Amino acid sequence: MYLPTAQLHQATTLAKASKLLQRFGSTARLLAGGTDLLVDLKAKRVSVDHIISINRIADLKGVTLEAESLRIGALVTITELDEEVAVREHYPAIIDATQSMAVRQVRNLATVGGNLASAVPCADLPPVFVALHATALLWSPNGERVLPLEQFFLGARRTARRDDEILTGVGIPKASPAFGAAYVRFGLREGNAIAVAAVAASVQLDGDGAIEDARVVLGAVSPIPKLATNASDALLGSQPTDDLFAKVAELATAEADPITDVRGSAAFRRELVGVLTARALTKAVGRARKEDR
Ligand SMILES: Cc1cc2nc3c(=O)[nH]c(=O)nc-3n(C[C@H](O)[C@H](O)[C@H](O)COP(=O)(O)OP(=O)(O)OC[C@H]3O[C@@H](n4cnc5c(N)ncnc54)[C@H](O)[C@@H]3O)c2cc1C
Repeated sequence: MYLPTAQLHQATTLAKASKLLQRFGSTARLLAGGTDLLVDLKAKRVSVDHIISINRIADLKGVTLEAESLRIGALVTITELDEEVAVREHYPAIIDATQSMAVRQVRNLATVGGNLASAVPCADLPPVFVALHATALLWSPNGERVLPLEQFFLGARRTARRDDEILTGVGIPKASPAFGAAYVRFGLREGNAIAVAAVAASVQLDGDGAIEDARVVLGAVSPIPKLATNASDALLGSQPTDDLFAKVAELATAEADPITDVRGSAAFRRELVGVLTARALTKAVGRARKEDR
């Protein structure tokens, strides 16, 4: 498999990248780490005449811990995210995801922005970021647009990003005390195996230890990272118990919309959703209680 011929453009600012996007329209694609795009071009799933590299745009790099939020730049690689002290300290659920993704060589190139913008249903970061109430930060010459991440995903490989927009990163609200989140996934083997099913969960406990806010988000079992609203709502106002998690796992299973493919049948994936939901909630509550990092 060879890469088809295309013209490579190097954009050094957001304005230049956006201008090139507007000029070439649907015949162009942005290039970050290339671990999705170059594979898609070789496999002829995508065809373009122009590739716009955004690798040298400084505005897209770095992780910043601000007073009220964590900002993760679109060009931050999975390795950088995994090694980031602020993430390790305050957002262990993200580390659950980075540790299960691909192998080191891929993680060194793969970026956060590419993982989200590709909108592949089995991608690991989207469910965990949605569970963490993240927002997508989109830049165009008209200014920045901030979108709740669950509204960014419209379907398999389809997002709400407009043609002239560049995803500059994600914003994640500061984790408050008694907040915990976790991500668990099932893959067919270690390393370079994408998720067959995955669940991210987050809980906020009140002063009595009851759940006052919760999110259960399903990965790889729906065209988009699925915020399972019935499952999430069923947690509210209750003390976290195994019985409650078993009931919520059933609701999550009913909200999954899996397909059958070479990695597993729809029935198997549904079964996994139940098991993973209970596991993710147990881990998230443990973290909220500071019992488990
Ligand atoms: C062997 C292998 C194993 C993998 N394993 C996993 C895995 O376990 N889990 C997982 O989730 N993924 C996995 N992937 C997929 C891939 O590595 C990730 O999705 C990666 O994060 C994509 O980032 P990238 O920088 O390489 O994106 P690119 O390939 O550069 O871009 C992907 C798409 O996003 C667009 N894009 C990139 N950046 C932006 C931006 N800032 N704004 C707007 N659009 C943008 C591009 O135009 C392109 O359409 C694997 C890939 C390979 C090859």
